[in-house]
Amino acid sequence: MMSNITVCARFRPLSANERKDSCDSICISTIDSESFIFKDEKGECTYSFDKVFYEESMQADVYEFLALPIVKDAVKGVNGTIITYGQTGAGKTYSVEGPSILECDVQKKGLLPRVVDGLFECIKSADESTKYTIKLSMVEIYMEKVRDLLDLTKDNIQIKENKVQEILLSGVTEITISDPEGALQSLSDGIVNRAVGETQMNVGSSRSHCIYILTVQLESTTDKRVKTGKVILVDLAGSEKVEKTGAEGKVLEESKTINKSLSALGNVINALTCGPSTRSSHIPFRDSKLTRILQDALGGNSRTALLCCCSPSASNASETLSTIRFGMRAKHIKASPLVSRREDKHAKKHGDITPTKDESCDRIL
Ligand code: ADP
Ligand code: MG
Repeated sequence: MMSNITVCARFRPLSANERKDSCDSICISTIDSESFIFKDEKGECTYSFDKVFYEESMQADVYEFLALPIVKDAVKGVNGTIITYGQTGAGKTYSVEGPSILECDVQKKGLLPRVVDGLFECIKSADESTKYTIKLSMVEIYMEKVRDLLDLTKDNIQIKENKVQEILLSGVTEITISDPEGALQSLSDGIVNRAVGETQMNVGSSRSHCIYILTVQLESTTDKRVKTGKVILVDLAGSEKVEKTGAEGKVLEESKTINKSLSALGNVINALTCGPSTRSSHIPFRDSKLTRILQDALGGNSRTALLCCCSPSASNASETLSTIRFGMRAKHIKASPLVSRREDKHAKKHGDITPTKDESCDRIL
């Protein structure tokens, strides 16, 4: 099993509340498009990712770097997965959907509508030896139960595996989409059904993982052979620690379930991306519904992109650090502590700091 993983970090702009609350408001400073310095009361550290998107980054930049290679592969029959990770309010849904799925401002459109456009664009320019069909399914995992977002009566979808190790969602609604407009309308209907819970962190914060599955079926017009390539987009539930949300009762149970499935995801990515010498033959896909559904998309000959969404605010520094660490772990990169602690203004101007990337960064795939 071989998995290609691209790990990126994205910092959204400070929110109005963060701007109001903190005097020394920013916990990161830019080095370049792959590295930044994170600082908190314990010190400073440089982190490097495949790409870092800062507050001024455009949705199109994120799409082109993270998703376009996956879209291009999907129309050749290769699976790919794009996952957004981070605390509630960090920008996961903004990155996936945009401000809204039916957003009219082209610049603000999120990954999902761009992936849909990209798939239709690719098949338009393909030759005539293949007939393409694109299908859409949407499910949500809430409290380890899989619900069909396109048909709420299907509230406990079973996950099965067929003879060729493909993961199937038993009875899930699959809509054949014939154009981007139709796809957006179906996506919008599904999004309305997404369960939302209330925590002190963010009213209406999402407590479920939302999984969008776009399946491209390629049928050869000559020998009728059929291949499929899937693009899966995952808008994960918030990764914040339970204590911070002041959760009790049901919300506490939700948080524990979320944490368990996020750990399972981390463990699977970790096991998949370990070098061959250290890779364990057992990949713990069965530890959660999330990893089980993603099994054939993450494993096998697939591409994975992880977008670690973060707040840049000092008031969220500990959650941001935890998100950064999740991303680093996925990539097997060690952080490079700066030799000495410096003032942030020096770091911003690069000054005389030459952060050294850990060599293990380059070891990965
Ligand atoms: P999450 O899904 O991680 O809980 P959201 O995507 O809902 O967080 O983002 C929280 C708020 O921040 C929203 O109001 C969203 O519009 C805003 N936001 C997030 N990322 C960006 C960004 N890159 N640029 C502008 N606004 C953003
Ligand atoms: Mg969200």
